[in-house]
Amino acid sequence: MRTRFISRRGLLQTAAAAGAASSFISKPLRAATESDVLIIGAGLSGLRAAHDAQDGGAKVQVIEGRNRAGGRVLSLTDIPGNPEAGGNGIGAGYGRMIDSAQRFGVELMNIAERAPLIFQRELVLDGKVIKESEWADHPRNAFKGPMKKMMPWQPMPLLMSTKNPLGKNYEDWYDPKSFGLDVSMHDWFLSQGLDEASIELAYNINCEHGASAHDVSSLMVAFTYSWGNMQRDILPRATYAGKGGNQSIPNAMAKALGDKVHYKKAVVGIRSDGNMAEATCADGSVYRAKKIICSIPFAALRNVKMDPVVPGAQGRAIKTMGVQKLTQSHIVAKKPFWTEDGLKPGLWTDGIVGNMMAQPFGQKPDEITSFTLWHRGWMADQIDRMPEAEAKKAIIAGVEAIRPSAKGKLEVRGFKSWQTDPFSCGDWAIWQPGQVRDFIQHVAKPHGNVHFCGEHTALSNRGMEGAMESGERAAQEVLQAL
Ligand SMILES: Cc1cc2nc3c(=O)[nH]c(=O)nc-3n(C[C@H](O)[C@H](O)[C@H](O)COP(=O)(O)OP(=O)(O)OC[C@H]3O[C@@H](n4cnc5c(N)ncnc54)[C@H](O)[C@@H]3O)c2cc1C
Repeated sequence: MRTRFISRRGLLQTAAAAGAASSFISKPLRAATESDVLIIGAGLSGLRAAHDAQDGGAKVQVIEGRNRAGGRVLSLTDIPGNPEAGGNGIGAGYGRMIDSAQRFGVELMNIAERAPLIFQRELVLDGKVIKESEWADHPRNAFKGPMKKMMPWQPMPLLMSTKNPLGKNYEDWYDPKSFGLDVSMHDWFLSQGLDEASIELAYNINCEHGASAHDVSSLMVAFTYSWGNMQRDILPRATYAGKGGNQSIPNAMAKALGDKVHYKKAVVGIRSDGNMAEATCADGSVYRAKKIICSIPFAALRNVKMDPVVPGAQGRAIKTMGVQKLTQSHIVAKKPFWTEDGLKPGLWTDGIVGNMMAQPFGQKPDEITSFTLWHRGWMADQIDRMPEAEAKKAIIAGVEAIRPSAKGKLEVRGFKSWQTDPFSCGDWAIWQPGQVRDFIQHVAKPHGNVHFCGEHTALSNRGMEGAMESGERAAQEVLQAL
């Protein structure tokens, strides 16, 4: 539910005082670029902050570096089924996302019944398909004991359901009593009796958080799984997507703000001075406001000049917090090659194909409209080093080598490297070992007149809902401070 904050009249009482401090502003720029609150970034967190601040009576402006809204929510509407290159599933507990979809007139579809097909996949190691029936006795199966019967992608969710150190109390992740768990996933796996070869299979291939088990905190991963399991507990078999793609939601939020959203405004500098703050863009334009809400992901904020410099733990967090390496390719097949070779549609590989997942988003729940290939960690690095056309050819050749029935039938219709994109510099935030302990109290602290939002500052949620949570919090902060 949205909260209404203090009245516009109450907010404007402070305007006279702020006016005196704004005398450093050059007059011709004022009318176009001044506001009570300037929000940097038209992703979910920035848009939520903008609406909440506006609902509370503040005059807002949003500046966005890209030529579109949505940030890390990106729907590929020119590919059948509108696959997502960014934020995917909206869980049953995503109250703010569901509320925003309803408020801005975006229909949500329950896509849960399609999920089983997405996860139908063959294991491929060293370029060879290993059938489920062969796996238990296969020489590459390094698992021990009961794990030997599990496919490599199965132990992780099982361990994080049955041995999750946070249990169902996912919010404990930011409580100092949990900081003993702020060690690497690698160390946590060792404490659970896994050896190096098992960790390699169960975690490091197609690594969802970090580039390996060494560079991610087990506290963050425990939180992610415990919170994810909570979504399923709320309403089993409910995962939503925006009709026409999830990007319909930020698009509708941005549209409702009208000409208050300015695109192609890449911020290169942020200054906080007295009772004002200003953002300078690459095109030379300067936007000023009493308060700035900055939603730039930390990895991208490293390229923005902050004046004054952000000190202490928060400054270190901006410089060092981890980020997921991820490149995606989206393949459309001219013919259903998977019906010819009898293999499951998806592939889970240790090679260039990465984790290839069917996208069943046609009229019927079993109609496969495209495939999304997730290239993570070091494989994302390797692909990003190639020219895009070469990378696409190599990826198609990789699929064809595994399943000859696909030869000549594939086209890469979508390609997105999140880490080479200067407005994200990676995918979701990765809390590295020790960083929850060192940074959790600091990431969202206001810095002069600059407040911060973005999924990396969320406490109780992750992903899209975390972004919304953080935008709501930042709007409350500025409304109280204005
Ligand atoms: C492939 C992928 C899959 C995902 N799957 C899921 C999922 O299933 N469920 C889920 O909940 N979440 C998922 N997420 C995560 C989710 O999409 C993000 O956490 C969320 O959208 C982040 O929102 P944000 O507002 O914090 O950041 P962003 O969306 O990154 O918004 C920040 C905005 O700031 C802008 N910006 C950056 N730098 C500048 C600058 N210098 N000047 C001006 N503007 C700037 C950016 O262009 C962007 O619009 C996924 C993300 C990806 C990429």
